[in-house]
Amino acid sequence: MPSRKILVINCGSATIKFALVDEHEESFALRGIADRLGEPDAVLHWQHAGERHEQPIPGADHGAALARLLPLVQEASPGGVQAIGHRVVHGGERFTRARRIDAEVLAAIRAVAPMAPLHNPANLLGIEAAMAVYPELPQVAVFDTAFHQTLPEHAFRYALPDALYREHGVRRYGFHGTSHHYVSQRAAELAGLPVEDSCWLSAHLGNGCSTCAIVNGRSRDTSMGLTPLEGVVMGTRSGDVDPNLHSHLARTLGWPLEQTERMLNHESGLLGLSGLSNDMRTLQQAHDQGHPGAILAIEVFCYRLAKSLAALSCALPRLDGLIFTGGIGENSPLIRSKTLAHLRLFDLALDEAANARCVNGVGGAIHAPGHPRVLVVPTNEERQIALETLEVLDACAIRADVR
Ligand code: ADP
Repeated sequence: MPSRKILVINCGSATIKFALVDEHEESFALRGIADRLGEPDAVLHWQHAGERHEQPIPGADHGAALARLLPLVQEASPGGVQAIGHRVVHGGERFTRARRIDAEVLAAIRAVAPMAPLHNPANLLGIEAAMAVYPELPQVAVFDTAFHQTLPEHAFRYALPDALYREHGVRRYGFHGTSHHYVSQRAAELAGLPVEDSCWLSAHLGNGCSTCAIVNGRSRDTSMGLTPLEGVVMGTRSGDVDPNLHSHLARTLGWPLEQTERMLNHESGLLGLSGLSNDMRTLQQAHDQGHPGAILAIEVFCYRLAKSLAALSCALPRLDGLIFTGGIGENSPLIRSKTLAHLRLFDLALDEAANARCVNGVGGAIHAPGHPRVLVVPTNEERQIALETLEVLDACAIRADVR
């Protein structure tokens, strides 16, 4: 049987990231991004057969950009694709796994949009545009929150009045589930352990950052909460702050809610601490040149990350390994080394040569001999979305056969 292909789409408010995933291949025949959608300088960038291409698509919206994608997909996959897999950030409590999109699923994604106001409306825009451009293809939603629906109640509840959870869904959901799921499975493979008998701490460090405790293939706790703001320090997000901060700033500075929310989401984290950049590459260069803001931002980032990992160890019966992934986790020996320096109580220690080697997509073990396992595992969210999309198609086919 020829291998099946899935078009994976990840829509932001002004971007569409896409990848054509073959179920049997790690690399993608086609991948790219439509950027600055709705603007006069909107542009489509893609890579196909090892070559980079760029095409201006002035003023194109999500639908127009997806229509431009059609011929590229046809060229890269003359046999067509089996389905489209959409990344959806928030699935609330409703979605514990990926789902084929129908009117009911669309309504449910819309219903939880107030909990992910920056993400779900953009994801919906992409789904609706894709349904219009590719009406004949099954469309599947893969949720960032679904992997964390196995959190026990003592991990997902806030210590707030019960009615806020029961009537309004105020609880911890967690995000980056697709990535934590993928890397924990890869880590088990790399370590030669069965997924269903393995215990991991995982640190996904990209622009957004989160940690996760995974036991026997299931998420047991994670650092993000009701929204992706909770937890560790990120590029522009603060992570945990005192919950009284909003009222403190309102009383002392007269800041309205929106101003504090914007500050916490877009002006904080590495950017806020350093006063320089949200980009770890820039901060590392500045750190090496003695920039005090960059040094502080990196120190706080690593300390808070280590503290989160130590806290999540409460969810594990034992530790089979610590996983680093995401742009920073996969590429920064400095951040890995500084983070581990705070975790000596766990007996974690690095082999510095192996640590230096694991950059630019090279993964592997980086712990010193005789110490607990530490792995760099390049994430592949697109592949995980494609695999979950195929699982949904297979399950639908089985149900159709049974009927
Ligand atoms: P996103 O969350 O948007 O998918 P990525 O996973 O690509 O983001 O991670 C982006 C982060 O990775 C940025 O802070 C970037 O500076 C950092 N990064 C990428 N390459 C390196 C590198 N070689 N060294 C340190 N940080 C890096």
